[in-house]
Amino acid sequence: MGLRSLPEAMPYAMVALLGLVFGSFLNVCIYRLPRGESIVRPGSHCPRCGQPIAWYDNIPILSYLLLRGRCRRCGARISPLYPLVEGLTACLVTVAYARLGPTADFVKQAIFIMLLVILIFTDLTARRLPHPVTLLGTAAGIALSFLTPVNGQPVAGLLHRFGYFPREPIASFLGAVTGGLAGGGLFYGVGEAAYRILHKEALGFGDVMLMLMVGTFLGLPLLLLTILLGSVLGTLIAAPLELISPRFRHFHWPYGSFLGAAAIYAALGGGSLIDAYLRWAGLAR
Ligand SMILES: [Zn+2]
Repeated sequence: MGLRSLPEAMPYAMVALLGLVFGSFLNVCIYRLPRGESIVRPGSHCPRCGQPIAWYDNIPILSYLLLRGRCRRCGARISPLYPLVEGLTACLVTVAYARLGPTADFVKQAIFIMLLVILIFTDLTARRLPHPVTLLGTAAGIALSFLTPVNGQPVAGLLHRFGYFPREPIASFLGAVTGGLAGGGLFYGVGEAAYRILHKEALGFGDVMLMLMVGTFLGLPLLLLTILLGSVLGTLIAAPLELISPRFRHFHWPYGSFLGAAAIYAALGGGSLIDAYLRWAGLAR
């Protein structure tokens, strides 16, 4: 994309600003949902002194910088994760907008990205993937499959053999449902097998629910790419640390965070990665 003038840059600035505002709300979800607290009430307050946070101290990123990361009343440190989540959300939705423009696809991808940002950080900070988020996300993924198509190729190919040729949006709906069932089913199966063999819980039910949600948004091909990339990412981060420091040997790695990051990558650029691979393998032109 080449931005030559201010009017051309305006939509991007608007999307980035909205991303910051939504990111601020995602922070509330990330902090409160693992604790089972309401995300609506009470309003934001300092966790140490309980002081309600005024609107002018609650401006994304800016307030953190002006207050130098401390509560205005008691000086308690504010986690740098707050401005990080706000900035990250703004960046990711802006990238999605640059790729898709003002389309239904963009709205769907922005919703998916924001659900994943919540889950990446609840798993990172609390080792939780809250069911309200994954359940709502799964419902949203299936509902949005009627609005913008999910790749339903594998199941469509199977149905063609039986002489059934599903049309849109039914093909898209089937793509979302099979993606979800594959994601949830695969992780449930692997989790059960690992539990029988290792006699310890390798995958939590939160991971199963996460992959159910991811499958409904992405469909089967990108779901498989997510699992592959998530596992590679997890190994690349965990293996060296476990080798270097004994303190990481029995560390509970946030597998959901790795999978969430991989799912965002798959949503933003996975399609072109799969196309490039298929061309390289001579399976497509
Ligand atoms: Zn305080």
